[in-house]
Amino acid sequence: MQVNEALSPYIERVEREIQGRLQEVDRVIDHNQWKVIRAFQKHQVSDYHFASSTGYGYNDRGREVLDSVYADVFGAEAGLVRPHFASGTHTISTALFGVLRPGDQLLYISGTPYDTLHKVIGSHGDGTGSLRDWGIRYDEVDLREDGSPDWEEIRRKLTPETKVVGIQRSRGYDWRPSFTIAQIREMTDFVKQLRPDVIVFVDNCYGEFTETLEPTEAGADLMAGSLIKNPGGGIAPTGGYIVGKRQYVEQAAYRLTAPGIGGEVGAMLDTTRSIYQGLFLAPHFVGQAVKGSIFAACLYEQLGFETSPRWNEARTDLIQAIRFTGPDHLVAFVQGIQQAAAVDAYVVPEPSEMPGYEHAVIMAAGTFIQGGSLELSADAPIREPYIAYMQGGLTYSHAKLGAVKALEHLWQRGLLAL
Ligand SMILES: *Cc1c(COP(=O)(O)O)cnc(C)c1O
Repeated sequence: MQVNEALSPYIERVEREIQGRLQEVDRVIDHNQWKVIRAFQKHQVSDYHFASSTGYGYNDRGREVLDSVYADVFGAEAGLVRPHFASGTHTISTALFGVLRPGDQLLYISGTPYDTLHKVIGSHGDGTGSLRDWGIRYDEVDLREDGSPDWEEIRRKLTPETKVVGIQRSRGYDWRPSFTIAQIREMTDFVKQLRPDVIVFVDNCYGEFTETLEPTEAGADLMAGSLIKNPGGGIAPTGGYIVGKRQYVEQAAYRLTAPGIGGEVGAMLDTTRSIYQGLFLAPHFVGQAVKGSIFAACLYEQLGFETSPRWNEARTDLIQAIRFTGPDHLVAFVQGIQQAAAVDAYVVPEPSEMPGYEHAVIMAAGTFIQGGSLELSADAPIREPYIAYMQGGLTYSHAKLGAVKALEHLWQRGLLAL
């Protein structure tokens, strides 16, 4: 790597330090790679499944088998995997609208959800067709100071009207730990003990294949995620997935298309092979990205920055948060990540307003898939506390380069003493 001389000793020390953690990641990759291959084999995935459909997409065998492969990989009864989901937010929204009815309550127990979901939840009479606009009530339970679930509050807020309990696995743009599978199991068990009939929904964005089990294998009834993130493997051009109990997945499918039609139609428009191949590659690429996050955490810690998770802590998503002292540092960091990209490295990101976000956000994304965040990317809402969130890297080498380039850029701007 072409780096500032002063950084070389740090990089060498970091690489030695994290060897053991990288080997642990390799074991997770192996496990998940074999899990995905087993699902492909069970359904006898074959060349003809990759053929695409047009028009209504009736009898698209590749699409049907893809749904089943996803269901098996995630230990669920059914799956709905479609390029017609425009984003993670759309996928999550479809799942929630699919199962909730006026008068029902949605209760998030993992604190305030991801920024773009605030408008999906909405407010009464906002005229947008948000959940609240439709008379679906909403409440949330804040996390405790240490980031753990507030069990007493969950017990108190779980009412007879609570139809869905929401859990966000990943931290999103928040300085709280992400929830591991073991913690999601504990939360699900707790809720089910009080209300066995409640639907436990998990927003699995950024979590897929970072551990050997998924939330639907730990008691969740319904789950959604984005193909522009982990399970798309950097190859799927767009889309999302919903997996879970058959009845709930079917209700979500009625919401995506129309009641009575559901998942039986929907032309795949030449995306089928990429979605299959992306799923096949996802465990490997997710592992590369996780290694990159471990490297970045260790490097920035050595230089005195506060990180979350720390390099040697358990991981259950791709996101690496690094805390800076001011907005200039955030901007310089994100711009440095962009400088490491293969695509659009000459572009200089600037903070700006984004649809669905409440603060100006700066994003680095020199990606092959627009906004693809299994690829090396970084985001930072320009607000206190000044935290940059970096994620992804289809190759470990690229993630390392990004972490180092960003430091170099801070140093060049006079924002870092070496
Ligand atoms: C990215 C993300 C979303 C939303 O996905 P978009 O594709 O950005 O709409 C929702 N929840 C979490 C935890 C996410 O990381």
